[in-house]
Amino acid sequence: MSESHTTNAEKPLLAATGRGLECRAGNFVIDPYRKTRVSVITHAHADHAKAVADIYYAAESSVPLLKKRLGENLDIRGIPFGQPFTLGDTNVTFHPAGHVLGSAQVRVEHNQDVWVFTGDFKRDPDPSCEAFELVPCNTFITEATFALPVYRWQPGGEVAEEIYRWWQSMKATGRTCVLFCYALGKAQRVLAELTRFTDETVYLHGAVAPLTDIYRQAGINMLPTEKIDLRKKDNDFTGKLIIAPPGASGSSWMRRFPKAVTGFCSGWMRIRGNRRRRGYDRGFVLSDHADWHGLLKTIEQTGASQVLTTHGQANALIRLLQEQGINAKELVTQYGGEEDTDDTPATDNSNNGDD
Ligand SMILES: [Zn+2]
Repeated sequence: MSESHTTNAEKPLLAATGRGLECRAGNFVIDPYRKTRVSVITHAHADHAKAVADIYYAAESSVPLLKKRLGENLDIRGIPFGQPFTLGDTNVTFHPAGHVLGSAQVRVEHNQDVWVFTGDFKRDPDPSCEAFELVPCNTFITEATFALPVYRWQPGGEVAEEIYRWWQSMKATGRTCVLFCYALGKAQRVLAELTRFTDETVYLHGAVAPLTDIYRQAGINMLPTEKIDLRKKDNDFTGKLIIAPPGASGSSWMRRFPKAVTGFCSGWMRIRGNRRRRGYDRGFVLSDHADWHGLLKTIEQTGASQVLTTHGQANALIRLLQEQGINAKELVTQYGGEEDTDDTPATDNSNNGDD
């Protein structure tokens, strides 16, 4: 492994360029942000999946989400997890990243040199998507969204129980709970985790409903849901739980729910001041990314001698890895981590029915 590692430094198999994570030997770009012929897509979040390529390769289970977000008529080719395919001089395989439905790590092999890009990933169990799979490699390119020791997650089931208790206590006082969650992944994870506590219907913002339908069609078990129809004036949401994208917070859409209390589900809620600054009544620490311990454990288990980080404050992680003798550095990319930036339009399309 150390021999191929020397050549890595001269001619990296994957390099961060102005187009994305580019593979010259395979003539493709992973998660491109500029015009590209052949792309390989890790998952359907907006900072990774952009409509800029002629051909898209993606994990099979992410194809309905990608079509919904990028366009039904694009050339999107679904490949089952674990099934190798050839691009240029490389062999490429998708492996589950455990981040959202269909999210993939990309394994690229060329002349016995193996690189893995995680995309976004997490290690914690999540009933709404495929479980993370460890993939040994020489070079590991990892996201580092929460790369500080303060970021440690509780199990999702415990957080769901907190959400359930909050909902029930607010119901007892005649309030409506509006829980802000990213529309793709987080919302469906909450709906799946809550099945352990209730079978009550949850009401969805128009941006969350179609993505939830895709999850349901994929066989994910979630609470029953109903899309909020803003045309119905006599709806009473007292005692109900509503899930909406963060962009709807503070918007005119919220006027429909005068008795609402608000909550926000995010890894960023681990930092106490964030909830207050963003004006939510409650914060729930639930993340779709690996925490500090998850990052360290995963890096060690891959056996990689070179570790490159994307989209995060990775200085502490890089220093620690260097002390352990690992060749670690940061790659500059445009991947933001959807917990950083809301990638969901705040508008509710339920009036024009085009979603
Ligand atoms: Zn993501």
